[in-house]
Amino acid sequence: MSLTLYNTLTRKTEEFKPLNPPKVGVYVCGPTVYGHAHLGHAKSYISFDILVRYLRYLGYSVSYIQNITDVGHLTDNADAGEDKLAVAAAKEQIHPMALAEFYTRSFFADMDELNCVRPDISPRASGHIPEQIELVETLLKKGFAYESNGSVYFDVSKFKDYGKLSGRNVEEMQAGARVEISKEKRNAADFALWKKAEPNHIMQWPSPWGRGYPGWHLECSVMSMKYLGKTIDIHGGGLENQFPHHECEIAQSEAANDAQFVRYWLHNNMVTVDGQKMGKSLGNFITLKQVFAGKHERISRAYTPLAVRQLVLNSHYRSPLDFSDAALFAAQSGSDRITKAVIELRKAIANAPAGKTDEKVVAKLTDLEQKFQQAMNDDLNTSIATSVIFELVSETNKLFGDAKTSAETLTAVNKMFSRLGGDVLGIVLENYPQDNSSSDKLMDHLIKKQIEERASARKNKDFAKADAVRKELEEFGVILEDTPKGTVWKLK
Ligand SMILES: [Zn+2]
Repeated sequence: MSLTLYNTLTRKTEEFKPLNPPKVGVYVCGPTVYGHAHLGHAKSYISFDILVRYLRYLGYSVSYIQNITDVGHLTDNADAGEDKLAVAAAKEQIHPMALAEFYTRSFFADMDELNCVRPDISPRASGHIPEQIELVETLLKKGFAYESNGSVYFDVSKFKDYGKLSGRNVEEMQAGARVEISKEKRNAADFALWKKAEPNHIMQWPSPWGRGYPGWHLECSVMSMKYLGKTIDIHGGGLENQFPHHECEIAQSEAANDAQFVRYWLHNNMVTVDGQKMGKSLGNFITLKQVFAGKHERISRAYTPLAVRQLVLNSHYRSPLDFSDAALFAAQSGSDRITKAVIELRKAIANAPAGKTDEKVVAKLTDLEQKFQQAMNDDLNTSIATSVIFELVSETNKLFGDAKTSAETLTAVNKMFSRLGGDVLGIVLENYPQDNSSSDKLMDHLIKKQIEERASARKNKDFAKADAVRKELEEFGVILEDTPKGTVWKLK
């Protein structure tokens, strides 16, 4: 069975066939950088991280582009309101680009924590103004756009496929459009390609139509075309971006290029809180930094980034994820179980006897990998794929019970953890942070000094002193045991 993906465009689960294998182009709408990333972002970017990782596991050579929106995203998500970044920057009294830089860095730091592979290119909208102007000129030349009072609009009546992704018809959209914006437009449902800037608008550029700034949808058409070509294999984004954002991207790109824009449209569902979408504009969001620090009224403790990842993978990317502290708590214990098993396994390899790889274990591993692939091929069913990792944990724990298990067998299990849990799901790490390692070493060093002192006291027949050393350590919970190989210590 090969990889199948649910394509929003056709509303069917289809076999994935890239245009130019083994190359695969993936474009995912990135964040608008005017605040810290929250759990909703985690669901979106972990979902597409899994897609990219799995495509690479299957042997595809993936180009992964995820933009950074730093201009043009207006407060009502359409053609009205103020630039989201400009509003936030004015509040903090800094330049919008300083705000964008600050939250871009914060976003990357959070995504690194979540173990999301960085995109190959993270292009900024503000860095592609000439290309955006060029696309507007093409659309004007081809008759799909018109200038009106220093702004340029896309004429939806000229593009017959408008609405094909979201399944809406133009009449419905006309009725829903706001009257006050439509004064400049031919049809109420037309959308802005370029907006005229008022003199006090900070983010503005010269253009053939006067000073202005690009419409929000334009950047994704332009940057995907620049880095992936006219037709891309996969375009991902949040369900809420299907309309108007993705619908507008299709109209701009296909009208300009006379070519299919995207072959597979993938949309992830949202994170909800009490049944409502978690979002910045709704004010009910919990940032990732708050989750990692345990500082939010809705959570009872700090949770690790791996627990957040586990939580996201526990449900399908197309299902909504209802946030609760209990769900995060369960994800944390699941994640801890995996981490503990992998750390113990790696320690055990060093002490296990050399020998052959157990054929029965190899057969079991092959079964598990097949089950894993089946789940992932079925439109990336991460919850079943994750259950395979838990089966691997149970297998590992069984092997620990048998002292004869060879280092080779344990190594084979470790490799499977790294391949499926590490490379694909990103919930197994190659190196776990070892917070306690230096203090552990110091403790070991100091106790051994005490043991030496006790040994020399005993040698000098000073049993009172030797006893005093033992008792003092005992008070701190350290037990000494005299073995034929010398004295060893352990914690009570
Ligand atoms: Zn986009």
